[in-house]
Amino acid sequence: MNSQKLIPKSLIGQNTQSILIDCGILSASAWPGPVSAKKMAETGLTTPLAISKAVKNLNDFYVTVNPQARMRCIDGRHDPELDEANLGPQVPGGAPGAALAYRLGVDKDDLTRGTFLADAEAMINSFGRYGLAIGGHRDENSTDKEAVGCGAIDAMDVVLARMTDPALVDDQKRVIKVLLGKDFDRDIFLRNMGAAVVVNGRASDYFRDREKIIDILEKTSKKSVSTLQGSHEECIVIVNFVPQTTFASNRFSEEHNGMQAFGYDIWRSFEMAKKLLPRQDDAQDRKRFVMARVMTTVATLMALTDGSQRFVLRMPRQQIKP
Ligand SMILES: [Zn+2]
Repeated sequence: MNSQKLIPKSLIGQNTQSILIDCGILSASAWPGPVSAKKMAETGLTTPLAISKAVKNLNDFYVTVNPQARMRCIDGRHDPELDEANLGPQVPGGAPGAALAYRLGVDKDDLTRGTFLADAEAMINSFGRYGLAIGGHRDENSTDKEAVGCGAIDAMDVVLARMTDPALVDDQKRVIKVLLGKDFDRDIFLRNMGAAVVVNGRASDYFRDREKIIDILEKTSKKSVSTLQGSHEECIVIVNFVPQTTFASNRFSEEHNGMQAFGYDIWRSFEMAKKLLPRQDDAQDRKRFVMARVMTTVATLMALTDGSQRFVLRMPRQQIKP
């Protein structure tokens, strides 16, 4: 077989370990979030050419994770406490973000009860049992009272509202299919969506006192919470499938005139599913958890952005198939 046929047309960069696949922009329809690569280009903060060049170089900013380093959010803003030699993986909302996915996909409790705060505390305890480093963040504008400064936590009610918005469901499903490929399971998607509709219906109860979660992180593990600086200037969303690697977000921004990228280490969600649900007969719940985590990630991007960011996959080389 001609080896050329094995290379996808959308390939934009490669090294010995990984390939980059260009998926265009996130969405052709305007998502309701405020962070806009389009507006940044219109106001001269960046140019389409600068974004294209940055996309081609993304592989240069991936490093091996330190398993002991704290978990990071997908947020692309500057983190003054980041130790470049010891980076933890990036997932939306850091450790507390996994709690909502567990609630929607796996938890067998009554959906009409429970709170995010209790779910997140339980998730932090699970992290402790498995020896996983927790992590979360504030930002320099956060007041401690109403908003912590992490879009994935502050806007979690908005995330759930976007996830269950009939006008956005098809577009959400399209992006999830790009991320899960042949593993996309419509029944699980609809099952999680049903749970999301119920929790969204009682969002004010479920999310009450959610801002306290950052204090709990700080109490559980000193230095697990950092304070991000500056404004959102994410022009790229990169989803990374290469295990044990992560994005050097500070260095990327410094070398690209302040341009930022949302980085999601999807491999970490697969790994978390295995840690949280380790038994052989947990296979179905693992799939449900991964689907819920990917759904919350896409809905977070719908809540935070207008969909004009460039959308790039970073995958292990050996997964290239015709
Ligand atoms: Zn965040």
